Amino acid sequence: MDSKLEPVRDPKDLYTKIFINDEFVDSVSGRNFPTINPATGKKFCDVSEGDKEDIDKAVAAAKEAFKLGSPWRRMDASQRGRLLYKLAELFERDAKLIGSIITLEMGKPFLQAYGETVWSAGILRYYAGLADKVGGKTIPVDGDYFCYTRHEPVGVCGQIIPWNYPASMFTWKVGPALACGCTIVVKPAEQTPLSALHLAALCKEAGFPPGVVNVVPGYGPTAGAALTAHPDVDKVAFTGSTEVGKLILQAAGVANIKRTSLELGGKSPNVIMDDADLDEAVRFAHEGVMENAGQCCIAGSRTFVHEKIYDQFVAKSREMAEKRLLKTGDPFDLKTTQGPQVDEEQYKKILEMIESGKKDGAKLESGGAAVGGDGYFIKPTVFSEVTDNMRIAKEEIFGPVQQIFKFKTLDEAIERANATQYGLGAAIFTKSIDNAMMFTQGIRAGTVWVNLYNFVTPQAPFGGFKLSGLGRELGEYGMSLYQEVKTVMMKIPQKNS
Ligand code: NAP
Ligand code: MG
Repeated sequence: MDSKLEPVRDPKDLYTKIFINDEFVDSVSGRNFPTINPATGKKFCDVSEGDKEDIDKAVAAAKEAFKLGSPWRRMDASQRGRLLYKLAELFERDAKLIGSIITLEMGKPFLQAYGETVWSAGILRYYAGLADKVGGKTIPVDGDYFCYTRHEPVGVCGQIIPWNYPASMFTWKVGPALACGCTIVVKPAEQTPLSALHLAALCKEAGFPPGVVNVVPGYGPTAGAALTAHPDVDKVAFTGSTEVGKLILQAAGVANIKRTSLELGGKSPNVIMDDADLDEAVRFAHEGVMENAGQCCIAGSRTFVHEKIYDQFVAKSREMAEKRLLKTGDPFDLKTTQGPQVDEEQYKKILEMIESGKKDGAKLESGGAAVGGDGYFIKPTVFSEVTDNMRIAKEEIFGPVQQIFKFKTLDEAIERANATQYGLGAAIFTKSIDNAMMFTQGIRAGTVWVNLYNFVTPQAPFGGFKLSGLGRELGEYGMSLYQEVKTVMMKIPQKNS
């Protein structure tokens, strides 16, 4: 392994205060909250706890920065793009440090956290390139009128992000918002404030004017709710649980009909036909659910396998889980592929779901318990003989737990795959173009993969059907979340005849 990729196990000079108007400041209340290392279960740092008063200050700064005539509003779009390119470079410059902070605060194995940070720089670059390509239309209308549209920044954006991909969630939110010329208040997840605060410092270093990006760490029901309810916030973008997503949509509507985009949970189906390349399908299905210790909104947590290859598939999946267990442990170790769950609450919830699977009669093939010792480690777990009515078949587990179902026909698989309140991702493994076409048309999900899983790229839109969300992030589609369309009508004077 390249020695340059050694992690920083004990990063110094962490940013731990609230970032408003380009300054790191204490919370108004003076309160702090702890950051816990999930690999040990021990606190390693205190962070200023933002609440309503801090959100008020941050929103005021963002509102001021958005005023007509402000440096940000007067800035050429191409210059906004240059600042985003610069921010991408800074992400790469600090990727080892950012990756290490993520490993420390949420337990993601360092190589993956480093990779996420570098990947996230690509999101910023993609949106940097789009900054000066936002245009309206000229529209031929009846009568002596000249009609055109302007695509204007939506205004002050509240962006509430989760802990599972701290670097990439930051860029999915701020990239398009900054490209469009909005100003921002980010509320990171309570588990991962430190990476977000470091990214805030990089925004300052890149040269975004004060008040354009603000980051207020704190708790969801206090800081997050205050941001959602704030009358001066024009738009809220949220990634997290469906439960909180519903609260956000409601509060945003009541407050001021904020533009709202939601990226929520899933229970994504992965259908393996009997003509699939078996080893490829097993590997993708395994990674598709175990990636990030299963803490992934698009986790392919319902694996539907054709009856003809079912036993072989289950045996190979069990082997993969057993191999993975050997690489479960210290997330700073470069050989580790699975770290701890993010916190005690998630850890307990996942173990409880595993118990429900056993009780409901699913067959435990591998794992099924905590690893033991310090930290929130859970063994990679595989259940076979799962039926559609079990809790583990219906509820999002958000842990390293694979459920394998058996099916006979593609029609049946599509129907069962769709029988969920969610619709985020879906995949089919098959060599038949007919199967692939039928599935991609029949499935109700925001992203459908054929012969692969979990491939997400800056250029392609991402989001959910049904309770998995509202709106599409990434790609050009992602820009429309941060724009208002203004129609301009001008009277064309006519020559007196
Ligand atoms: P969550 O509560 O939905 O948290 C996501 C973000 O929303 C965090 O920043 C959170 O702050 C904030 N929040 C919580 N309550 C809020 C409120 N009333 N108003 C405004 N913001 C609020 O998710 P979680 O508690 O971290 O995880 C619970 C479950 O959510 C997981 O088991 C998983 O099923 C799902 N989840 C999904 C995703 C995804 O990518 N779609 C990501 C994470 C979690 P706090 O950090 O203080 O709670
Ligand atoms: Mg929560």
